[in-house]
Amino acid sequence: MHTIEMAEHYLIPFYKRTPLVITKGKGCYVWDEKKRRYLDMTSGIAVVNLGHRHPRVVKALQHQAKRIWHISNLFYQKPQTELAEKLVQRSFDGMVFFANSGAEANDGALKIARLWGNKRGKTKVIALQQSFHGRTIATISLTGQEKYKKGFDPLLGEIVFVTPGNIEELRQAWDDTVCAIFLEVIQCEGGVKALSKPFLDEVMRLSREKESLIIIDEVQTGMGRTGTLFGYQQFGIEPDIITLAKGLGNGFPVAAIVVRRPLGKEMPQGMHASTFGGNFLACAVANAVLDTMDESFLNRVQKMSQYFGQQLTELQKKYPAFLLDIRVYGLMIGIDLAKELPVAEVIERFLAKGILTLRAGENTLRLAPPLIIHEKEIQSFIKAFDTLLQEKQGRTA
Ligand SMILES: *Cc1c(COP(=O)(O)O)cnc(C)c1O
Repeated sequence: MHTIEMAEHYLIPFYKRTPLVITKGKGCYVWDEKKRRYLDMTSGIAVVNLGHRHPRVVKALQHQAKRIWHISNLFYQKPQTELAEKLVQRSFDGMVFFANSGAEANDGALKIARLWGNKRGKTKVIALQQSFHGRTIATISLTGQEKYKKGFDPLLGEIVFVTPGNIEELRQAWDDTVCAIFLEVIQCEGGVKALSKPFLDEVMRLSREKESLIIIDEVQTGMGRTGTLFGYQQFGIEPDIITLAKGLGNGFPVAAIVVRRPLGKEMPQGMHASTFGGNFLACAVANAVLDTMDESFLNRVQKMSQYFGQQLTELQKKYPAFLLDIRVYGLMIGIDLAKELPVAEVIERFLAKGILTLRAGENTLRLAPPLIIHEKEIQSFIKAFDTLLQEKQGRTA
């Protein structure tokens, strides 16, 4: 049987998959079983931020694979400890817990917030409309999009939702019983939309006034994606907790929760755990990822971001009726398309031209290329987009 037929037979049909069987990747490109090459503007949904098979990451994995893979958290292990130190050095004075996925990190962050809050008579959590925090029961409860929650009732209680940017609603919701607010500084799944500065300033103010924790979900915005190592670093906000996953292992499953030191020290032994969390392989890989994402790497991401933004602005001038709004945050890019141009159709047309793209929100094309992308690949994407829009214009004219 062919892989696609087999998959339809043996895999639970939760995913709508593109009919390609991917066999290989290198840098910004992947290949299918027919040896056709695709420019990957998805990075496996903002995961493979250093590109496919980054040599330094491959080497770190191979090196560790020959020594030891796993021993559990009943023992000390050097790669895990070093990774924690690196994360703290590059965020804030804190302590780290390792998990295996974004949802699991957010779930753990919620547990930490509740352990902290229950001692202080605070159990309520504020989350935002259009947010996305994962697919476990706890994290769909935190997610502000009906499509992910429908059919799974009853969900977790004491979570209230606020419209992003609505300061009045935020004030209304934020009473003395709030233990934490969960946010993404840029809602990626929700349409690649950043929170406004005044809204975030009010979050900071209220968190101090009401003594509540700020939890920033950096699962997608973190690991260099938005041009700084973590997204929050561009927004003048001071989180008490950040969660990381996606880009942290460049494709190897690993996630982390970083909490401020006093909060970490308050956590009692035995109250949270993960068998796989922070194992040798995952941490060896993540250490290599972090070492690669130094200042000059991030400067280069910002340069590519500027270049990509300029190119897209030029294209928008040519097709203002199709490209309604363009938002560029590092190499997380959202392009709102006119309704005559459904994003599903655009993704399909890009695919036919050998380019993989993503969607977000209602009708937004989302681009999350590997951060190692060059002008050359950006140019070939722009050229394909131009052709695509021209074809579409010809048809509607
Ligand atoms: C992808 C994502 C998650 C969920 O991560 P998983 O590894 O799929 O569990 C959570 N939050 C944000 C912001 C994400 O983009």
